[in-house]
Amino acid sequence: MACVTGKKAYPTKERALEALVDQRGRFEYRSNSGPINVYHCDDCGEWHFTSKGDMHEYLQSADIQKRIADQREAEYWERKLR
Ligand SMILES: [Zn+2]
Repeated sequence: MACVTGKKAYPTKERALEALVDQRGRFEYRSNSGPINVYHCDDCGEWHFTSKGDMHEYLQSADIQKRIADQREAEYWERKLR
């Protein structure tokens, strides 16, 4: 569903968080910039990313931090070898 905010919408909080982890793995965000949390939208009833507020605790977990770091390293080598 298209949303008036123009942001990409995810049907559930879990899906939005997974996509957020994926995005942070693919782009070089500094730890305190870029999307860090998700919120439920009153306009479309789905979930969007936000860069405001505190980082979601899911993103702060060691497992997820490692996953993001591993993915970034993979992306780095992929760009370098392209
Ligand atoms: Zn929305």
